[in-house]
Amino acid sequence: MRYPAITLFLSGLLLAAGCSRAPDAVYHNGRIVTMAPGGPAEVEAISITGDRIEAGGSSERLLASAGPETRVVDLAGAFVTPGLIDAHFHFTSIGREVMQLDFRGTTSKEQVLAMVAEEAGGPGESWWLEGRGWDQNDWPVTSFPTASDLDRVTGDHPAAFRRIDGHALWVNSRALAEAGIDVSTPDPPGGRIVRDGAGRPTGVLVDEAMDLVGEVIPEPDIEAIKETARSAVGRCLAVGLTGGHDAGTLPRELEAIRQLVEEGDLHFRLASYLRWPLDGMSRPFGYETLDPFLEMGPVSGLGGGHLWVVGIKMSSDGAMGSRGAALLEDYTDDPGNRGLLRLTPGEMYTTVMRGAEHGFQTIVHAIGDRANRIVLDVFEEALARLPAGDRRFRIEHSQIVHPDDVGRFGELGVIPSMQPTHATSDMYWVADRLGEERLEGAYLWKSYLEQGLRIPGGSDAPVEELDPLLGFYAAVTRQDLQGWPEGGWFPDERVSREQALRMFTYDAAYGAFMEDEVGSLEPGKYADFVVFDRDLYEVPVREIPGARVLRTVLGGEEVYRVGG
Ligand SMILES: [Zn+2]
Repeated sequence: MRYPAITLFLSGLLLAAGCSRAPDAVYHNGRIVTMAPGGPAEVEAISITGDRIEAGGSSERLLASAGPETRVVDLAGAFVTPGLIDAHFHFTSIGREVMQLDFRGTTSKEQVLAMVAEEAGGPGESWWLEGRGWDQNDWPVTSFPTASDLDRVTGDHPAAFRRIDGHALWVNSRALAEAGIDVSTPDPPGGRIVRDGAGRPTGVLVDEAMDLVGEVIPEPDIEAIKETARSAVGRCLAVGLTGGHDAGTLPRELEAIRQLVEEGDLHFRLASYLRWPLDGMSRPFGYETLDPFLEMGPVSGLGGGHLWVVGIKMSSDGAMGSRGAALLEDYTDDPGNRGLLRLTPGEMYTTVMRGAEHGFQTIVHAIGDRANRIVLDVFEEALARLPAGDRRFRIEHSQIVHPDDVGRFGELGVIPSMQPTHATSDMYWVADRLGEERLEGAYLWKSYLEQGLRIPGGSDAPVEELDPLLGFYAAVTRQDLQGWPEGGWFPDERVSREQALRMFTYDAAYGAFMEDEVGSLEPGKYADFVVFDRDLYEVPVREIPGARVLRTVLGGEEVYRVGG
């Protein structure tokens, strides 16, 4: 116990004498955007000691601080940003996409079957084959495929493959049998079992009928979840993401991620929000109540800054595409339908209060104007009852907000956590759902920034593409990749490139109480940054989506480099 004290004493003496040791690394000759709230906005060079930034400044000054052991990297004028952070994604789902068969781009049923045959391997084994992305409209014969097609190539495996839109599942006979689906099984409400002339299921399940099979697919074990987490991280680092907020972690996933962090194997900074309620999806490692989670309390920077357990994620309504978003008035294209609320205000309020009493932040998905109003009401009530404090309650998506409610975000300090690509994906059809009038409060960015709010930027991957540059591009253009519509969709809500970058760096960090550690390049923070192949502030906007990450650095270590 005496040595640390002596070391501390000695290092104190050294500091007092002005002798500091040379940094471990200096990156110089770059255009390094810091996002530091107190400035400077840009520096030429940064130095790194351990996993932290030691200093930022001119190349000349920081090169002078280098010693013989210092690793010196010439950025050759490259554009550098703080490590990007996705403030709303679905972490293990991103990894699972890599591990499942991916049929996107296939042009015939035979091509799909050949891929399945290769994956299935020899006889005698029987894990579930899973995949996604088939689209019979791309095949020479556009009728639905069948279970017997699959039976020829799947051996002893049950198999379940989602259609490209996620609304149909193609299964084999083994999967139908395991789910107990036969000629006598009725179509569930909201779903359809595709049948032949004799009423026998043919092997395609539509919408709610997909759950009949989904329920019998075994949940992944801890080791499998670790594997998906590793592949999710690999995908993130390659697009410049060094951190992200998992919008709805299951308890078993949290356990797997925690193990991965303790094994030193999560090269990422993940902020986790527990999914609540759990909808019975948590069985083996699950909680019947919130109590075990609340008693655990928040986790901050476990394992050298790799895991934060920050709060609770709830969903107040559904999505716009399927008309599940809760609206104040009827859907324009579906009179009588106002969407649905998935939780009562009372249920949300109770969880917000219990979380806050245990130091947890709460974030709530709200798409429709009714859902947004109700969640604002819940947060307002909670803020009035709770002792004063820094709560940072968030509304995830904040998509359709009644004009009367827009100003309440700023008044209450409720954070709109938004995904710019949702606007550019929905802009083609959202007026059909809502009419033009209700778009006044829809997908606002500039309006919230003007209230002094921070907007944590996210992708909602795998719902949208993971690449944060697509969000950056959508935020500055409000156009699709072809440049439509000219001038941008509701162009007044476009933001500057600096504001867009802040959404995916500092504002995202702030959204999960992580801004003292990450989100900007400042002395004392983790040395997380991304080197790009072009200047994202200067190139024509059209060239932003094509930009490539050359290096991703996490805690001073190069965790991704183009070309290996
Ligand atoms: Zn989401």
